[in-house]
Amino acid sequence: MKNLNNIITELKLQKNLLREDFKLLLTANGEEQKSLHKTARETSQEVFSNKIYMRGLIEFTNYCKNDCYYCGIRKSNAEASRYRMTKAEILERCKSGYELGFRTFVLQGGEDPYYTDEMLCDIVKSIKCDYSDCAITLSLGERSYESLKLLRVAGADRYLLRQETSNAEHYLSLHPQSPNSMTLASRQKCLFALKELGYQLGCGFMVGSPNQTLDHIIDDFAFIKELDPAMVGIGPFIPHSKTPFANELQGGLGLTLNALAILRLMKPNLLLPATTALGTIDSSGREMGVLAGANVVMPNLSPPKFREKYLLYDNKICVGDGPSRCSNCIRGRMKKIGYEIVESRGDYVEI
Ligand code: SAH
Repeated sequence: MKNLNNIITELKLQKNLLREDFKLLLTANGEEQKSLHKTARETSQEVFSNKIYMRGLIEFTNYCKNDCYYCGIRKSNAEASRYRMTKAEILERCKSGYELGFRTFVLQGGEDPYYTDEMLCDIVKSIKCDYSDCAITLSLGERSYESLKLLRVAGADRYLLRQETSNAEHYLSLHPQSPNSMTLASRQKCLFALKELGYQLGCGFMVGSPNQTLDHIIDDFAFIKELDPAMVGIGPFIPHSKTPFANELQGGLGLTLNALAILRLMKPNLLLPATTALGTIDSSGREMGVLAGANVVMPNLSPPKFREKYLLYDNKICVGDGPSRCSNCIRGRMKKIGYEIVESRGDYVEI
């Protein structure tokens, strides 16, 4: 059997592996796991030094027309108390974020047709006008090519859309097929459209989602190689009590960290967030993510009155905190492990 250290070296050099070898890395534990994370961390430091980019997340609507089985703000969750932020409220979030040193704003929400292209373009233009040194990331789910084009022209720089899984059958098991059918093909089509439109693109997947196998994760690695995104967001699946997946197991910490480390070695300049979901399954999850190769954190800029309603999964952290507390907390956490949050747009740089 191959030595795991040789496999880690091979991944660092070749940026790819045989399926069996990916499996060995995904399931690594003990000393071997430490060595995987150390190599990924060093690879990240070669590109980003000890600098961590910060993105301010503005969860501006929890209305959603979709019914994803895993998600707490799915349409059928009648117990979710719904809200929408006005343009003024969104701009207010940017103002407080800017003062706290944020130079990227991520507008994320459910798929909410209330916000027309016109309204969204107007919001994007206004943010760009007031904060011309900031990047805008959108995370609005699937939209038409035309709509994505209008938003890009209005000034949006980046777009996050997780593929969720790269296996069509697995995708079907996570999303309802009627009346609003969701398919992997349309998800992927949207991702390639975003790329063509010149967005800095983020894709990603949940680790440990119901029915996911190691082979599915390796299919995700292959898809990521093909798409060649600027960013990959991965975090553990965490059940939400008011969804069909309420009784499913949450994704594993070790598996998530190993997947992060593998992605870092596959693509040294990738923007790789240590996600809130990772911080939710373990109180040091985000620190461990950075120590396994992540280089981005995404604290929340929403006030508690909205945060407590944007619950994709149970036990989400920092729900009662305001933006300045979150930003201070994450700065302190990063400092403690020898990293520093930088006040920069943190754009993707090709190498
Ligand atoms: N409507 C947008 C934003 C979705 S929320 C879109 O479709 O892109 C952002 C991400 O949260 C999702 O892509 C999903 O991967 C993740 N998510 C949703 N429910 C989750 C859960 N129960 N556990 C962990 N992550 C979850």
